[in-house]
Amino acid sequence: MNLRESAAAFGPTGLRDPAILIVDDAPDNLAALRTQMVEQGYQTFVANSGERALQLAQRVHPDLILMDIVMPDMDGFEACRLLKAHPVTQRIPVIFMSARTEAEDVVAGFDLGAVDYIGKPLRMAEVCARVRAQLQIRASSETQQEQAERLRTIVNSMAEGLLIIEASGRIQFTNPACDQYLGYQADQLSGRYIGDLLNPLVAQEYLDYFARHAANPATAHSHGTREVIIRHRNGNSVCMDLTLTPMFLRQPLFIGLLHDITHHKLSEDALQRAAMVDPLTKIANRRHFDSFLEKEWQRATRTGAPLSLVLLDVDHFKLYNDSLGHAAGDICLQQVAGAIATHALRGTDLAARYGGEEFVLLFAETDLEAATGLAEAIRAHVEALRLPHPKSPTSPWITVSIGVATAYPQQLDITETLFVAADRAMYSAKEDGRNQICATRTSGASGVR
Ligand code: GH3
Ligand code: MG
Ligand code: MG
Repeated sequence: MNLRESAAAFGPTGLRDPAILIVDDAPDNLAALRTQMVEQGYQTFVANSGERALQLAQRVHPDLILMDIVMPDMDGFEACRLLKAHPVTQRIPVIFMSARTEAEDVVAGFDLGAVDYIGKPLRMAEVCARVRAQLQIRASSETQQEQAERLRTIVNSMAEGLLIIEASGRIQFTNPACDQYLGYQADQLSGRYIGDLLNPLVAQEYLDYFARHAANPATAHSHGTREVIIRHRNGNSVCMDLTLTPMFLRQPLFIGLLHDITHHKLSEDALQRAAMVDPLTKIANRRHFDSFLEKEWQRATRTGAPLSLVLLDVDHFKLYNDSLGHAAGDICLQQVAGAIATHALRGTDLAARYGGEEFVLLFAETDLEAATGLAEAIRAHVEALRLPHPKSPTSPWITVSIGVATAYPQQLDITETLFVAADRAMYSAKEDGRNQICATRTSGASGVR
């Protein structure tokens, strides 16, 4: 075929005309079939033996082979068997043509992988119809294969995790990104249940949604995107956006798309944490303490439980800085903060650096007596650190003066009352000689009692 012919063979759509390989040892049959096939607009190749047919098939990859059975040397059955055994030619459809039309011959032909079997003498219109039918089947199956291949490539290479979930919650399929996000090998997630990945409440919520959809597919709607915590195979939790879309293929199925937002979450959390922490001492800062106090105050007004505030100020700290340097002062504050923080044990306790060398602790549901005990423990703890303070008139070591105030908050009270009371108590402790505590009780709007 020269260039012009080969260009013509691709037709006006750019798609190649179907190519038919005709195999027959009888030259008359070959000529007649070829004429018919050319008339149908097919490109034709001819072979007068099984061996020649194999060679040609491997070179030209015909779309269909019309194969005579009875031929000298290699017969059509043998040629077909060899075609089906070779990866390059195994998917080319073969139609047998033979005068042998006994049932066992026809069955043998189909068993060898032929797609059709035409009896001789040939009726050309029938041959053309059968060839056309097979070419159509082949074209549509090729399209399907291409579509499937395209989908497979997308699913395997996409950065988003993809899961196909059955209404029972059973995972039917996961793509490589999903396996990787969750720490599994390929196929390890298939057959598991969403309950293995999600916390029980969230899993149940999805199962309820699946059940609603399965009962009534027509009203199904996308479950939208939501943030979920998913259990990684190593036991850690990963934060993901999960988008669920229903699909009905013989059975109700759900397509889950997973988008990893752990990194995003981590930096968000880190920022949030940084905004709550004092950079020098790494304990809570004033801002965090104030909002914490506000919450506990509200809670105490409802429960009627006492709320105690412990305010500490390092004694003669200016002298400490002046004698040992500001850097030593910083380290000293870190050590004092560390000691103080160990006394905030319950979820409703909080220790914070309130500014400079001043620290605060909040003890919810703690009365004045208990808070005084805690304050004394903290005072003794700081003293026991034995941080040398050579210039202190109070002690050779770093010491703190502590004010303790307890309130039973009422609706109209403000947290300010508690602070003022603790501050006054702390100054009393200073005046009385430092390295000691002074306690006071506030009651409602009447202030210090
Ligand atoms: P008193 O016993 O009456 O509390 O005396 P004091 O010297 O501790 O009180 P004063 O309020 O006069 O001094 C507080 C000192 O704390 C002054 C300031 O330089 C120091 N200070 C505040 N914040 C820091 C800090 O972050 N690092 C260091 N090294 N020093 C600080
Ligand atoms: Mg001070
Ligand atoms: Mg001080």
